[in-house]
Amino acid sequence: MTTWQDEASRDLLNLGGRLALLVRGEGSHVWDADGVRYLDFLGGIAVNALGHAHPVFVDAAAKQAATLAHVSNYFATPQQLELAARLKRLAGAGQSGHVFFANSGSEANETAIKLARLHAHKTGKKTILSLAGAFHGRTMGSLSLTPKPAYQDPFRPLLPDVAHIEVTVEALERALADDTVAALFVEPIQGEAGVVPLPDGFLRRARELTTEHGALLIVDEVQTGVGRTGEWFAFQREGIIPDAMSLAKGIAAGFPLGALVTFGENDLFYPGTHNSTFGGNPLATAVGNAVLAEIENTDLLANVTTRGTQLRNAVRGVPLVTGTRGAGLLIGITLSAPVAADVRDAAQRRGLIVNAPTADVIRIAPAYTIGDAEVDEFTTLFTAALAEVAASHP
Ligand code: PLP
Repeated sequence: MTTWQDEASRDLLNLGGRLALLVRGEGSHVWDADGVRYLDFLGGIAVNALGHAHPVFVDAAAKQAATLAHVSNYFATPQQLELAARLKRLAGAGQSGHVFFANSGSEANETAIKLARLHAHKTGKKTILSLAGAFHGRTMGSLSLTPKPAYQDPFRPLLPDVAHIEVTVEALERALADDTVAALFVEPIQGEAGVVPLPDGFLRRARELTTEHGALLIVDEVQTGVGRTGEWFAFQREGIIPDAMSLAKGIAAGFPLGALVTFGENDLFYPGTHNSTFGGNPLATAVGNAVLAEIENTDLLANVTTRGTQLRNAVRGVPLVTGTRGAGLLIGITLSAPVAADVRDAAQRRGLIVNAPTADVIRIAPAYTIGDAEVDEFTTLFTAALAEVAASHP
């Protein structure tokens, strides 16, 4: 029997007109079942922070699997406590901050939505706000905050009391003015919308206004967090402290792990209201600790910044490219025509993996560990892919 998923998978696998069934990875490269090598500049969409098969990742997973892979969440483990403390320290969450572990970004955001509901019940303010262009996930709650008709419409009804606003300070001021907002969700850079950073000053103003009107500011750092932008967390560029932050993707660099970090005092869950069987299990959190320690100990954040600048310079002035945006190694390359899917496919036929979040944007999110060789290889392959597409779109 052919299932919907088989059909969808076949379409996805046919990217670039050839079957890309990936079987192995090492560093910034992956190989398909036919032995074809690709430069992986998508990194599982901003997940593989240390690239593929990094010894730190492999050792941490193997050691923990051989020691204690899973226990029920009636118990704590040293790995879980260590990762919670590490995240709080890196995020500046303070003594009263908390960390809840989940398995994905969507689940971290579901947790944040429940936190917002607790706050709504306490304050009588009901509305949860998110921004035009936002992507917070595909579970029913996180989908409700993701105002894209193609994603939402087949699954209505969604959560009540959710509203979306344009990404302007004026819209923000209007939305908060009547004191009905319980929480505002924002991504510092909207990855799925085409790597679109918030306008200058927006996050700072959002912090001021949410504080003034008693609403929670919840920052979705699923795509931007744990070093991707060259800071540990993108909100830190703005000098603000949110009430909560959701994480996933790069946090364990390939192991499924999500987290919600809360800052300071807030409406905590109490026993029985929220939990997850796998969330925070020793295997995932051991890998998370090892990955974050490696990033910290080898100063990979500096490499993220340097390589990001190098890559942005490398595509400047190349045919079809109108500019770049983003931060660190989360880069959107904007094109002069809606040909991003063609560029992605041409790149893949040449052995380069990137993606096309919108019709005129190519996104790259390579490993933090890339060096000159990877930058050069990317530049050669990407420039050739652009030239091919430019030639067929005069
Ligand atoms: N939030 C943001 C900003 C994301 O980019 C994503 C995934 O792309 C999610 C949430 C959902 O995360 P997950 O796919 O792990 O559920």
